[in-house]
Amino acid sequence: MKLRERIARLIAAQGPISVAQFMTMALHDPESGVYASREAIGAAGDFITAPEVSQIFGELLGLWAAQCWLDQGRPTRAHLVELGPGRGTLMADALRAAKIVPEFLDAIEVVLIESSPVLRKVQQEKLSTNVRWLDRFHESLNDRPIFLIANEFFDALPVRQYVHTAKGWCERMVTVDSDGKLGFALAPFPQAGLSIPHGRGEPEDGAMFETSPASTALAEEIAHVIARHGGAALIVDYGYAGAGFGETLQAIAAHRTAGVLDKPGEADLSAHVDFAALAEVAASAGAVAHGPVDQCALLKALGIEARAQSLQRTNPNDADSIASGVTRLCETMGTLFKALAITPQHAPKPPGF
Ligand code: SAH
Repeated sequence: MKLRERIARLIAAQGPISVAQFMTMALHDPESGVYASREAIGAAGDFITAPEVSQIFGELLGLWAAQCWLDQGRPTRAHLVELGPGRGTLMADALRAAKIVPEFLDAIEVVLIESSPVLRKVQQEKLSTNVRWLDRFHESLNDRPIFLIANEFFDALPVRQYVHTAKGWCERMVTVDSDGKLGFALAPFPQAGLSIPHGRGEPEDGAMFETSPASTALAEEIAHVIARHGGAALIVDYGYAGAGFGETLQAIAAHRTAGVLDKPGEADLSAHVDFAALAEVAASAGAVAHGPVDQCALLKALGIEARAQSLQRTNPNDADSIASGVTRLCETMGTLFKALAITPQHAPKPPGF
């Protein structure tokens, strides 16, 4: 049975589901979910990510982690963690670049957090040595410094949506009509205990508030490990840090936008990351948040231009594609994508912030 039909049956049997539950099923259903069942990333998939655009992206992020490790006194045992490594490209580029700091490579154990068996296999082929996989961020990582990278991971975590009405903020639900078609409907009662961050302004009727409890819970866990044992996290994603209301959840299938409910399991679903919310939970967990800064500013500060020139010198035949990769990372994606870093208190500022 198609995933859309299974979702419709579930709703018919138990009542409307939240947008977050719909998103979880569409992305992770073991049979037909976007991530669980096929390769969504890359030129042939639904979307292309920064490490697939240019090897320089992963190289610079790997050196960022190694520099943070040096700045924090070279802890002898540490975890290098990546959340949602996709095709494994970023980590492969990061580890290759980090060879210039061999003591870092000796000190770290690489841990990849990946829920998709299909992508895990792709990663295993690319990264043969000394790598451990977990299907979620786990308490076992709370025993030593952690250097963590997450690119386009938080945008895939489920969001809940609330609409402002005369009664208050009512949750937007997914329901089904008598023909079995999926549609949106508002919960009949306002959500008790919902807290809207300060500084968003006065909502008009119909305004939408999006929030990702899965994202803030995870950021808090990571910040807690960093505050306690040391380390640094770099979260790169498209997102915002500030005022206003509005929907950012979107569906992309084969590089095109689709209706959010139209193609469960076929269209990739993602939402903009609320960096202010991540920074706030990081601080409340006792760590320090830096940024967000634009991806372009981060990559320039980390030396993207010098690295591109040196690659062009050694690979003159690829000079144009190297240049267009840099343009794409810095101009096309450069300000829509942002980076947030988390460090312990009293640690030096991480490079690029
Ligand atoms: N970072 C990669 C891939 C981004 S796509 C890149 O930049 O190319 C999102 C990745 O996160 C995929 O590998 C997906 O399988 C994984 N993922 C999504 N939700 C997850 C979850 N809840 N737990 C673990 N992995 C998840």
